[in-house]
Amino acid sequence: MKIPFAKLEIKSLVTEEACLALIADQKWASGFTCRHCGNTNYCKGKTPYSRRCTRCKHEESATAHTIFHRCRIHLPEAFRIMHMVCNEPAISSYELARKMTIRQMTCWKLKNKLMECVSEKGEIDILYSGEST
Ligand SMILES: [Zn+2]
Repeated sequence: MKIPFAKLEIKSLVTEEACLALIADQKWASGFTCRHCGNTNYCKGKTPYSRRCTRCKHEESATAHTIFHRCRIHLPEAFRIMHMVCNEPAISSYELARKMTIRQMTCWKLKNKLMECVSEKGEIDILYSGEST
């Protein structure tokens, strides 16, 4: 479930929906399995790109159990930051904050999280979860 963020065509990912589509594609690349009952059949959920189990009705968003869960900034912004960090790991959070006009602390937190799960090839395993929830 790795997304090659360093090589992403970031310009085409300017909407929340486009980002969600990519996340959902990767997350369920090998199919959907309900985390509650193990059923593999689903229908569309209430939010864009979410999936709902047809048996127990449990709904899972595209971002649940991924590094985008509880992401405080918009997904296109997060994608741009990931793109920059993957291409230039030495970039500082101050530089990111200036380029994105986002608070430095927010950039710092996101960058730290990314550095833990980015591979040498600039790919990020989106199913990685740094927090034990
Ligand atoms: Zn289920």
